[in-house]
Amino acid sequence: MIKVVKFGGSSLADAEHFRQVASIIKADPARKYVVPSAPGKRFKEDTKVTDMLYNCYNMVKKQENIDEYYKQIVARYNGIIEELGIDFDISGELEYIKNALQHRSGRDFAASRGEYLNGLILAKYLKYDFIDAENVIFFKENGSFDEELTNKVMSQELLKHKHAVIPGFYGVMPNGTIKTFSRGGSDITGSIVARAANADLYENWTDVSGFMMADPRIVENPCAINTITYRELRELSYMGATVLHEDAIFPVRYANIPINIKNTNAPEDAGTMIVASSTEYDTEKVITGIAGKKGFSVITIEKDMMNAEIGFGRKVLEVLEDNEISFEHLPSGIDNMSIVLSTSSIEDRKEKLLNTLARNVKADSVVVEDGLALIAIVGRGMVKAKGTAARVFDSISNAGINIKMIDQGSSEISIIVGIEEHDFEKALAAIYEEFVK
Ligand code: ASP
Repeated sequence: MIKVVKFGGSSLADAEHFRQVASIIKADPARKYVVPSAPGKRFKEDTKVTDMLYNCYNMVKKQENIDEYYKQIVARYNGIIEELGIDFDISGELEYIKNALQHRSGRDFAASRGEYLNGLILAKYLKYDFIDAENVIFFKENGSFDEELTNKVMSQELLKHKHAVIPGFYGVMPNGTIKTFSRGGSDITGSIVARAANADLYENWTDVSGFMMADPRIVENPCAINTITYRELRELSYMGATVLHEDAIFPVRYANIPINIKNTNAPEDAGTMIVASSTEYDTEKVITGIAGKKGFSVITIEKDMMNAEIGFGRKVLEVLEDNEISFEHLPSGIDNMSIVLSTSSIEDRKEKLLNTLARNVKADSVVVEDGLALIAIVGRGMVKAKGTAARVFDSISNAGINIKMIDQGSSEISIIVGIEEHDFEKALAAIYEEFVK
């Protein structure tokens, strides 16, 4: 049995957390490969080390002196080492990094050092081998992740180590420079290592006991999600449910390795299990989770006899493509078509876009309305349950809220409703109430 364990920044923010992490790792001999983030916030107003490193980079760019500021980074790492009571001197590393920062090493290099240093310390503390991610995680010339090369090299490397720590978040470009994933990218590293190790489980340790059925800022004390499929998770995280980096799903999904989201501060909690297929983990529940986002606009195009016009949809989408705008939903009627897209993607070119659309499809009218919020009601149990849509719509209308858009894909794993932004919280709570309470 092999488990790959990834610990987020808040799980490694100070020596106390390092101890907790070590006891979790040592409690299960299957936990062979460990992926750490950089030290996160110790308290609400604290700054993540990654952000401090970005700040250093920006200061150097503005030709400001980083001597004083960098001391805080040094103090954080040395504080951890001292408190752990390990005999480990990283002053040479810290000096080298400072020097590199002062000589304008890349932005990604700067950010990656948070994970690198934390990895060194954790490896020393656990007495595990250290594998530098720059030797096993590769990006292509165009900046995209080189999945196959990475998997080949990494799996061969892992075979040489019984136990190892591999820092998260970064890898290397073909020219040898360091490149990071997007923010929160250590989750992706964990998933890559899990695939390469052919692990039975990828444990992602964070500071919450998994996914909640709804945002706790909107619904008080929401239920936890015990199991969720990759596809359901994609729908929910796209709509803003953030616990795991979106891209972390892909490497393990190929290999059919489940992900278990666990809480470092409450290791006994089961957390959320993310699995490939729903059949293994059948659910009684109709709804797995509800999530949503504000900040959408809807462009409505009207034209008589639109339904009979061949190529109408193509002409509409062509305009979006030419303007490099991606759309979210495309609900359509007989003589009208609506395009739902994020307001930020059209903000600076609304006028031009509407004119081009009107011209291209010879529309009777093209109008845009901002201030739309979308809510996704997601559940693999929906396929089997009758009347789910009716319950969603009833709960919203009973709350006195008007639905502006409805979209349900034929896969029947989610229903999306569009409402006005100011109704967002109320609508979400009403749906939750209907299905969960
Ligand atoms: N330390 C990086 C960040 O703050 C990556 C991570 O934590 O996953 O985004």
